[in-house]
Amino acid sequence: MIDSGPLDEDLRTILHHTSHIIMKALVYLFIWLGWNILVSGLSGGFGKVINKQERVYIPPSDDAKCPCHSNKALPVYKDCCKVYHTKIKQSLSPEELIISRFSAYASGNVDYIIETTSKKSVDYDVYIEQKSYETGIQKWKKDLRANMIDNFQYIKIEVVSVNYLKDDQAEVTQRFLAIDRDGIRYPIEETSLVEKNKVDNLWYYIRGNVHRPPADIAPFMNDWPQEVGITVKEADDIDEKKSLQLMKGPGAKKPAKAAFKKPATR
Ligand SMILES: [Zn+2]
Repeated sequence: MIDSGPLDEDLRTILHHTSHIIMKALVYLFIWLGWNILVSGLSGGFGKVINKQERVYIPPSDDAKCPCHSNKALPVYKDCCKVYHTKIKQSLSPEELIISRFSAYASGNVDYIIETTSKKSVDYDVYIEQKSYETGIQKWKKDLRANMIDNFQYIKIEVVSVNYLKDDQAEVTQRFLAIDRDGIRYPIEETSLVEKNKVDNLWYYIRGNVHRPPADIAPFMNDWPQEVGITVKEADDIDEKKSLQLMKGPGAKKPAKAAFKKPATR
């Protein structure tokens, strides 16, 4: 055997240390791989892994009362807004557009809300024009859920008037009632600008001016379908912050960069 000098001793020590490090790295790699295989295996069993913040939309059942509650007769979903939501029938009038959009807010159908928003709207500018289409849509849906859907229950809507500015442009004044998680009622009045698209002949939402309805709203506030089955608190303890959020709509929490002229609302 060849005598190893002091240089070889050092080399041996270095090699020894290096192999230790490599061994450690391999152990970590195996643990990491094992964990990932386990996790993907588990979630694979339950279908697609869903981002925790992503709430899955479950449409109302056909025979449930339509969430718009726009009609005293309380038609069932399949005979009311479903025909718009599923494009069996598309919104043929400004009023149908506004009611079916409200129903979409009430049931968390963000796709319908986005699909019926005009390309002329501020939201379109903010979410779609600035980023890749997919990223923009995802952010838009997330903001709609966080700001407009998750914290409110939408009770009913009434269209007060439709004012045609042109054949293909109208202002729809509506009142709607939302209830927050604490059971506080938020009566809102909005005048929405809607426009008929020349290409597909359908009505789209552009923007809305939102305000608190006049004091004589009491009958509207109290006369809503008991079938909804919600216990509410008195209206005088309205949380101004939340009220503002509802009144400003999904654009309320957007970054300052969105220097839009008017906050987009429902
Ligand atoms: Zn409906």
